[in-house]
Amino acid sequence: MRIVKNFVNGAYEEPTGEVKYPVYNPAFGEKIAMVAEAKRDEVDRAVDLAFDAQKKWSEIPIPDRVKILFKLETLMWDSIEEIAEITTIEHGKTFEEARGDAIRAIQNVESAAAATYHIMGSSNKDIASGVDEELIREPLGVFAIISPFNFPLMIPFWFLPYAVALGNTVVVKPSEKTPLSMEKSMELIKKAGFPDNVIQLLNGGKEAVEYILENKKIAGISFVGSTPVAEYVYKKGTSLKKRVQAGASAKNFILVMPDADLEKNIKNIIGSFFGNAGERCLAGAVLVTFEENHDSVVKKFVDAARELRIGYGMEKDVDMGPLIREEHRSKVKEYIESGINEGAKILLDGRKYRNERYPNGFFLGPTVFDYVTEDMRIAREEIFGPVASVIKVDNFDHAIEMINRSRYGNASSIYTSSGYYAREYVKRIKAGNVGVNIGVAAPIAFYPFAGMKDSFFGDLHPQGGLDHILFFTDSKVVISRW
Ligand code: NAD
Repeated sequence: MRIVKNFVNGAYEEPTGEVKYPVYNPAFGEKIAMVAEAKRDEVDRAVDLAFDAQKKWSEIPIPDRVKILFKLETLMWDSIEEIAEITTIEHGKTFEEARGDAIRAIQNVESAAAATYHIMGSSNKDIASGVDEELIREPLGVFAIISPFNFPLMIPFWFLPYAVALGNTVVVKPSEKTPLSMEKSMELIKKAGFPDNVIQLLNGGKEAVEYILENKKIAGISFVGSTPVAEYVYKKGTSLKKRVQAGASAKNFILVMPDADLEKNIKNIIGSFFGNAGERCLAGAVLVTFEENHDSVVKKFVDAARELRIGYGMEKDVDMGPLIREEHRSKVKEYIESGINEGAKILLDGRKYRNERYPNGFFLGPTVFDYVTEDMRIAREEIFGPVASVIKVDNFDHAIEMINRSRYGNASSIYTSSGYYAREYVKRIKAGNVGVNIGVAAPIAFYPFAGMKDSFFGDLHPQGGLDHILFFTDSKVVISRW
C-alpha cells in the first residue's frame, strides 16, 4: 500500500515514521493509502528549513509574492476536476461538493492578493516638533496549519495563502484521514514557483501535533477540528507563547418561522442538514418550529429527506455520500439509539439504508427525529452525521433563548419573510455565521469565518477580512526625528 508523501525542501519525500493511519475510499470501504506519523526530528528539520527560508521570502517584494499566488490560482483552476476527484475519493463527498471545496480554496488564494493593500501601515507627520511616527506590519516567521478531515483542501487554504502573502512560511499538517488533496496540491505549489521551504507538508496525527506545539521556532498555529482538541491546542500553544486561532465543533440551529416560504426554501434547508453527509461545521443539526407550522414543516422536511439519492460521489445524480469511517458511522448510530432511548420519535431511520452497489461503504441514510427536547444528547452534542432533530418552541423569544443556551455558536439560520424577525435574529443570536434564508452560512473568502463560544478559541478568525492581517503579522511602531 502506498504511503502518503511529505513535501519538504522543495520535493516530495518518503516519511520515516511509523506507518499508522489508513486512508479509505469511504464509499467502497477500502483502504487506498497509509499515513506515517511524523517523527519529532522530521518536524524539527522541516521547521528549521522553513525558519531559514522565511527571511529571504519576506524580502521578495510583495507584488512578486502575489504573482506566485496568481500563478497558483491559475494552476488550481486548471486542475480543479482532478483535485475534486481526489477529494471525493478520500472523503466520500459528492464530486460537486468536492468541486465547491476546491473553489473555496482557490477564492482564498485570490483574496490573499488583497494583502498588498491591507498590509499598508499608517503614519503621522509631526506628532511632536520634528518627530514622525509610523506603523509597520511585519511577518512573524513560521506558522503551522493543522486541519480536520471534512474539507481536505479548503481549510488549509483558509490560512496558507494569507500567511505566505504576508511574508511568513508555513508547515501544513492535514488530517491523517484525508491527506491526499493537500499532497496533490503541493505539486501545484511547486509549479507555481514558490521557493523551497516556503510551504511544506508534513503528515501524521496527534503526535505530529504535539511536536508542532513543542517546536520553539513556530510562531503561530492555525487549527481547525473538534472542540476538545481545539481547546487543548489553544491552551498549550498559547502557554508556549505561540499565537493560536482554533476553529472547533458545532451544533447549528435552523429556525423556520411560520411566515417562511417553505416551497422555495425546503431544498436549501435539506442541503444544510444532509449536504456533505452532515459532516460540516456549518451543517444544520436542530430544526426549530412553532405550533402553527410544525406539522407542515416536518412533513415537507421528511419527504424531501426521503428523496435524497445516496451513493458514490463520483457517480451522477448522487446527493449524499458515505460517512468518513466505520467507527464514525457506529458513533452516529449510537446517537440515533440515544435519541430513541431518551424518548424522541424517529420519523426516518437512516440505519435501514443499504447500498447494493457498494455494500462495504460507510453509508448511512438521512435520519429525522421529532419531539426532541433541549436536554437530549441529540439536541446538545455534535453528531457530525445526517441526523436532524426537530424541536417545537412556543414563540420567537423562546427559540432565541434556547439557541443561545447551546454551548456552541458556530452558525445559525432563520427562514422568514419578515424583515423584523430577520433583523431581531441577527442582532440577538449568539453564533458567528448567521444565515437569513440561507442554510449554510459559509462566508466567502474575503470575510472572516467566524465562530463563538465553544466553536472557536482565539480572537482572530480564519480567512479574509482584516483578521488574517493581524494574525499573521506583528505591529512595529517607529518614531523618528531627523
Ligand atoms: P479532530 O479534532 O479529530 O482532528 C483535527 C486535527 O487535529 C487533525 O489534524 C488531527 O490529526 C489532529 N488531532 C486529532 N486528535 C488529536 C489529539 N488528541 N491531539 C492533538 N491533535 C489531534 O477533528 P476532525 O474529526 O478531523 O474534524 C471534525 C471536527 O472539526 C468537527 O468537530 C467539526 O465541527 C470541526 N470543524 C470545525 C470547523 C470550524 O471552522 N469551526 C470547520 C471544520 C470542521
